[in-house]
Amino acid sequence: MNFKLTEEQQMWRKAVHDFCEQEVKPRAAELDASAEFNTEAFQKMGPLGLLGMDIPEEYGGAGVDSLSSAIALMELGMACGGTALSVVAHNGLGCAPISLFGSEEQKRDWFPTLAMGTNGLAALALTESGTGSDLVGGVKTRAELEGDEWVINGNKAWITNAGVASLIVTLCRTDSAGGSRSLSMIVVPTKTQGLHIHPAEKKMGVRASPANALTYENVRVPKDHLLGEAGRGLHQTLEVLDGGRIGIGAISIGLAQAALQEAIGYAKERETFGVPLTQHQAIQWMIADAATHIEAARLLIYQAAWLKDCGEPFSREASIAKLFASEMAEQVCRNAIQIHGAYGYSRDYPIERMYRDARLMTIGEGTSEIQRMVIAKRVVS
Ligand SMILES: Cc1cc2nc3c(=O)[nH]c(=O)nc-3n(C[C@H](O)[C@H](O)[C@H](O)COP(=O)(O)OP(=O)(O)OC[C@H]3O[C@@H](n4cnc5c(N)ncnc54)[C@H](O)[C@@H]3O)c2cc1C
Repeated sequence: MNFKLTEEQQMWRKAVHDFCEQEVKPRAAELDASAEFNTEAFQKMGPLGLLGMDIPEEYGGAGVDSLSSAIALMELGMACGGTALSVVAHNGLGCAPISLFGSEEQKRDWFPTLAMGTNGLAALALTESGTGSDLVGGVKTRAELEGDEWVINGNKAWITNAGVASLIVTLCRTDSAGGSRSLSMIVVPTKTQGLHIHPAEKKMGVRASPANALTYENVRVPKDHLLGEAGRGLHQTLEVLDGGRIGIGAISIGLAQAALQEAIGYAKERETFGVPLTQHQAIQWMIADAATHIEAARLLIYQAAWLKDCGEPFSREASIAKLFASEMAEQVCRNAIQIHGAYGYSRDYPIERMYRDARLMTIGEGTSEIQRMVIAKRVVS
């Protein structure tokens, strides 16, 4: 086993790190406060490769391996949870289904602009107002074939990037009989008539990333906007989410790492009982536990990404890594606030933002409960 990153991966990490230090981190607090999307940073992400991580080079993307993708998301997570979420949703949710199931023509049509972000980002719409975890039983958005067009009616909720997207991959029910072969993925350009994108949700954290509810009212798209085969939507969704979970786990590690750095910096400066906080054993143990858990999570993410890159099954490992990393990040941010005392509770310090951002990671792309179900199914069988 070789845990050393290749020279190329190290250079990629440094390039993303430098970009985050200049374009992302300095605006994180301001954009959290105003719930604004970092348009300027996203305009510069295309040429760097951050918007084409899942897009092969032949279609204008960076086509990086999963480990490099995870490394980039760790760096982005360290700088700004909201910006990192929009990047992972664009690559791992919006572009990945086209990469995995799209035809040659679909890739040629959509990828070059998505990789540069010139017309906007990509989004994936699974969740509805009435369902999130139970997609098979719950999805009510229907798509019916009329001649050469799909006609879509229904709603979606909490769709990251919808407000800044050029297209939304939409999970629709295409067979009213129900069951695991009744769902399909259809690509809906956001300019299509009848698609209403509602104002961004007012969120607790990851506020630099817009999430919107959508209404589809007789939305008509050409028949060839279907991704892969009709009826494969559930299997496609599960495959996409496996990859996406590595991304959410990686952002969690970035958030935890940033929180730990803040806590160490503060603990070195603050004195109680005549010594810096770092000299109290209770504080040292919180720091030691955080460092240990971050390293464990990093190895789990590396393992899942490595399996994916090898073409091996990685669903169980992705769920384990996402579950551990997201719950770990919440705990590390919680303890980092504890180390800050009252100042940890202040909006003048970045730590409370990291805590709010980390809270999402145990919910998005499958809650912790759903991860435990996935893991148990594979461990028990
Ligand atoms: C900021 C943000 C961004 C998001 N971005 C996207 C996006 O881009 N695209 C998208 O499609 N969705 C997105 N979502 C939605 C997200 O994926 C869902 O919220 C998530 O999957 C959970 O679904 P739900 O909210 O409907 O909860 P529910 O499914 O209603 O679950 C409620 C609670 O019950 C638990 N639960 C459910 N079923 C079981 C069970 N069988 N056993 C035990 N416990 C169970 C859940 O774990 C949860 O704790 C986003 C959500 C947020 C908050």
